[in-house]
Amino acid sequence: MAQALADGAVEELQADFDGEVILPEDSTYDEACRVFNSMIDRRPAVIARCASADDVVATVNLARESDLEVAVRSGGHSVAGLSICSNGILIDLAGLKEVDIDPNAGIARTGGGVLWGEFDKATQEHGLHTPGGRVTTTGVGGFTTGGGYGWTSSKHGLTCDNLVSAEVVTADGRVLNVSEEENEDLFWGIRGGGGNFGVVTRFDFDLHQLGPIVLAGLALWPLERANEILRAWRDYVDGAPDELSTACVILTAPPEEFVPEHMRGQPVLGMAAMYVGDPEEGAPVVQPLKELGPEVDLIGPMPYTEFQAILDPSAPPGYRNYWRGEYLSGLSDKAIDTFVEHAPVTTATAPPFSQMIIFRLGGGVSAIDDDATAFSHRDADYMFHPISVWEDPADDERVIAANREFAAAMRPFGTGAVYLNFTREEDRVRDAYGDEKYRRLVAMKDKYDPRNLFRGNQNIQPSPKAGAAATA
Ligand SMILES: Cc1cc2nc3c(=O)[nH]c(=O)nc-3n(C[C@H](O)[C@H](O)[C@H](O)COP(=O)(O)OP(=O)(O)OC[C@H]3O[C@@H](n4cnc5c(N)ncnc54)[C@H](O)[C@@H]3O)c2cc1C
Repeated sequence: MAQALADGAVEELQADFDGEVILPEDSTYDEACRVFNSMIDRRPAVIARCASADDVVATVNLARESDLEVAVRSGGHSVAGLSICSNGILIDLAGLKEVDIDPNAGIARTGGGVLWGEFDKATQEHGLHTPGGRVTTTGVGGFTTGGGYGWTSSKHGLTCDNLVSAEVVTADGRVLNVSEEENEDLFWGIRGGGGNFGVVTRFDFDLHQLGPIVLAGLALWPLERANEILRAWRDYVDGAPDELSTACVILTAPPEEFVPEHMRGQPVLGMAAMYVGDPEEGAPVVQPLKELGPEVDLIGPMPYTEFQAILDPSAPPGYRNYWRGEYLSGLSDKAIDTFVEHAPVTTATAPPFSQMIIFRLGGGVSAIDDDATAFSHRDADYMFHPISVWEDPADDERVIAANREFAAAMRPFGTGAVYLNFTREEDRVRDAYGDEKYRRLVAMKDKYDPRNLFRGNQNIQPSPKAGAAATA
């Protein structure tokens, strides 16, 4: 078996390549190595910036034949650093930028390297959308294959629930169409099983009407009111319609004009809210939250694309990041007390971008049968999502320890399951699926990737027997 690039292999790849092959000596190489989390500094031997499914096939074949490590990158937002490798081959999907909308069928054919801001811009031209990333620079690839919670998921489900078909390049270099009718097992696996079974070169999403104007925005309260507001929020959203999508967060108030001076730079309680539907119908649904008397209330009619970009300034690229995503079985008073005790302290270990979030999930996600997709744990009502963001490597240990301590304090209120797209802990993959589903995923890995070519992900390892048979 090879384990290195054969002489002339790169030239052969370049010969028929529609995109661009970037090598360490190229001026664009350093930029092409960059991913969202600056803690991740890896240098592939070859970056294949693919512009077609054929490019992906050629690169997968080269990687398999050379037995080099492979990484796949769509938007590069994996905080765990799963979309880049050292010395191996990076399959960079940044050249797959098609967003082709059929408004009559309500379907968007979407290239594997499209970013959510690009997708939203194209679909909103038709007054359509599918649930997608809450930051515009996240890629459709990792987001969808890992599940994908957007602001409209409370009503319309996860992004992967809105996938109707896709094109997948498998480890043996085949190009397969997948849907409920064709290669159904693979279609099941790419909806929550991450990049374990192949490279998705095209996603076909179901679209829903929304916008261009939605009722949405942010509100802020002083930290002293956090306990009271979180209880009132929970009491209200637990019985609210699925059209109401909300999250609460403890963050450092930004030095913006809309923030009163006494709050700027201080830990405060924030709430993001959106009504997934007609803004006029949403007004009475959102009103009880506005009546909680925020000091800053920016919830009002605004373009959907503006709300989709509202968190961009709080998630700048190029910083060090440590994240967790843990499901909560409910939000008891004790869970709120623990959150309010720890969140400001953890936020203060790494201001100004760290933020400690609790998302209200919703019926759009839980209504779908758990067996319908590889994605699991749909029944949780809330997700705890502490995000630590800092700049200086000297702070790594201190900041990560604080985040972990907070997660440990919240653990008694969790279901024990994690959302892999937010997780940096390496040993939580089985927790994300549960034993039974994990076994089914291993059987799929045995079928589609027994040599574990695609292991630069939240990895489902093939059974040793399948691996041995494939390499024999
Ligand atoms: C700023 C920011 C905001 C975020 N907001 C949200 C949010 O609102 N909701 C949410 O659910 N998550 C969110 N996330 C988490 C996000 O879902 C994951 O980080 C996801 O992996 C990002 O997708 P990507 O394409 O950018 O990932 P990449 O880093 O490019 O890839 C991540 C993983 O997916 C695999 N992969 C990527 N593309 C493909 C493909 N086409 N086929 C097969 N495998 C592929 C890669 O191999 C890798 O293992 C956010 C992350 C960041 C950094």
